[in-house]
Amino acid sequence: MRRTAFFVFLVAIAGCTSAPTTKRLAQDAAGAMGGADRLQSIRTVSMKGGVGTRLRLGQTVHATDMETPAMLKNVVETFDLPNGRAMLDYELQLGAFGQHRREILTKKNGKPVGLEDVAGRPLAVMSPDGLFSWGTQNNPSFLLRRNVVTIMKAALASGSDAAPEDRQLDGKTYKYGKTTLGDDSVGLYFDPESKLLAGYETLDTESMLGDVPAQYILGDYREAGGIKLPHKITIRKGNQPYAEVEFSSAAVNDAASDAVFTIPDAASAEVDKAIEAGSYSPIALMKIGEGVYFARAYSHNSMIVEFPTWLTVVEAAYTNAQSATLVRALTDQFPGKPIRYAVVTHHHFDHIGGVRGLAAAAATILVEKGHEPVLRAVFEAPHTKPPDPLQIARQNHKAGMLEIFEGKKVLTDGTQTLELYPITGNPHVDPKVVAYVPSARALFQSDLFIPGVGAPAGPDAVHLLESIRALKLRVDTNVGGHGGVGPFAELEKAVAAATKK
Ligand SMILES: [Zn+2]
Repeated sequence: MRRTAFFVFLVAIAGCTSAPTTKRLAQDAAGAMGGADRLQSIRTVSMKGGVGTRLRLGQTVHATDMETPAMLKNVVETFDLPNGRAMLDYELQLGAFGQHRREILTKKNGKPVGLEDVAGRPLAVMSPDGLFSWGTQNNPSFLLRRNVVTIMKAALASGSDAAPEDRQLDGKTYKYGKTTLGDDSVGLYFDPESKLLAGYETLDTESMLGDVPAQYILGDYREAGGIKLPHKITIRKGNQPYAEVEFSSAAVNDAASDAVFTIPDAASAEVDKAIEAGSYSPIALMKIGEGVYFARAYSHNSMIVEFPTWLTVVEAAYTNAQSATLVRALTDQFPGKPIRYAVVTHHHFDHIGGVRGLAAAAATILVEKGHEPVLRAVFEAPHTKPPDPLQIARQNHKAGMLEIFEGKKVLTDGTQTLELYPITGNPHVDPKVVAYVPSARALFQSDLFIPGVGAPAGPDAVHLLESIRALKLRVDTNVGGHGGVGPFAELEKAVAAATKK
C-alpha cells in the first residue's frame, strides 16, 4: 500500500517536472541548434550570399496599384550583438531601377551613428533614424532586435513557465509560447519534430507602415561555426509578404565581420556632427531666386518657398531625420517663420519618408487626391515602439493635418505665389505634382528628370517637358528632387537628343 502510494507520488513528480513550458521548449531548441552555451557565446553573425525579394517599397505608378516584388541578390546581413551594430548589404532590382546599397548602423565611442553607402555616390553619414533601407528590413536596427540569436537568448532568459499551446502556422501545428524582449512581447513557434524555433511574431514599428504585427518564419537550418542557423528567413508585416531571403552561407564570430563597421577617417568629422546633432541627415540650403531655396540633401532634395510670414517645403523626402535637420536649418535661417505647408509631389515612399517629421513640426501636409490612399495610411498609422516625432506631437496636440486637394492648387499671400499642378499620364507615377514659383520662374519636380548634372532624358522627362508646355509655364530654372538645379534649356536639349533618333 505504502509502496503504491510512493510510486504514484514519483509518477506525479516526474509528470510535473517534464510538463513542457515555453522555457523548456527554448532549452530544447537551443540544444537542437548546438547547445545553449554555444548560442550564448555568439557575438557576431554574418549571413552571406542571400537571394530573395522585398515588397512594401511604395513604388507603384498609381497609389492603388498592387506592388510587384523587388529582387534582392548578393545579400549580406551582419550583426554584432555586444556592440549593438548591424549592416544590410544587397543589390536591389525593381524594374529598370537597380542599386547596390549598404546601410550600416555602427558606433563611435559607444554612440550609434548611421552610414549609407550607395555604389557611385559619396558615403553619407546620419543618425540611426536617418537610415533608409530597401533590404529585408527598412532599417538595420531591425536586424539587431529580430534575429534568431537575440530571440532565442530572450526565450532562454525569460520564456514563460506556462504550458505551450498547439498553434497553426502555414498549415502546420507547432508548440506556441511567449517570451519578452525588452518591451516587446514575442510569440514563439517551436517545431515538435526538429525542436527548432520555426518562427516568431511580435509588433514592429516600421518607419512607413507604423505599428504592424510582424511574423518571422525560419527555415533551412544549417550548421555554421558550431551552431545551426536558419538560412531562409521570410518576413510578413501586417499579414502580407514583406521580405524573403535564402542565404548560401553564414560566418559566426568571424573577426572579418568587424571591418564592415569601421568608420572611414574621411567621415570621422561628419560622424561627430551627426552624433552631436541627435536626429540628423546632411542638408544644405542654397538660394536660387527671390524667396526660393534649394535644400540639397545627399540623395533626395526639397525646395523651400518663403512667404512674408511663413514657409512652404516642397517634398518631405526620405526620413524623419532629414525633416528634423531641415526644420532646424529653416528655424536658423528664417527665425519666427513657421513651416505652414509641406507639399507631397507623389506617393513613393522615398519621397514621403519625411512627411511625419514635418507634420510633427505642425506643417499642414498638402496631398493631391490621387496620392491620398498611400498618404493617409502613412500619416494616420500609430508609431508606438518607439514613438516617432508625429506620435509624440499628437500626444501633445501639436501635430499638423493632411489637406487633400484636387487639380491645380495655388498658395499665395499676395507677394509670393506657389502653384501646384498634378500632371497625368507620366510613366513614372500618375498623377505627379510639379511645383512652380512664378516670381523665380523655378519648377520643382522629382524623379522625372535629374537637373544640373547633364543627365539624359527618358520617357518620364519627355512627358514632363510636354506637360510644362501644355500648361504654358515659363520656366527658367529646373529644381531637382534628385541631382541639383539647372537651366530649363538643359531639359529641352536632353529631350531633343532623346527624341531625335
Ligand atoms: Zn518616384
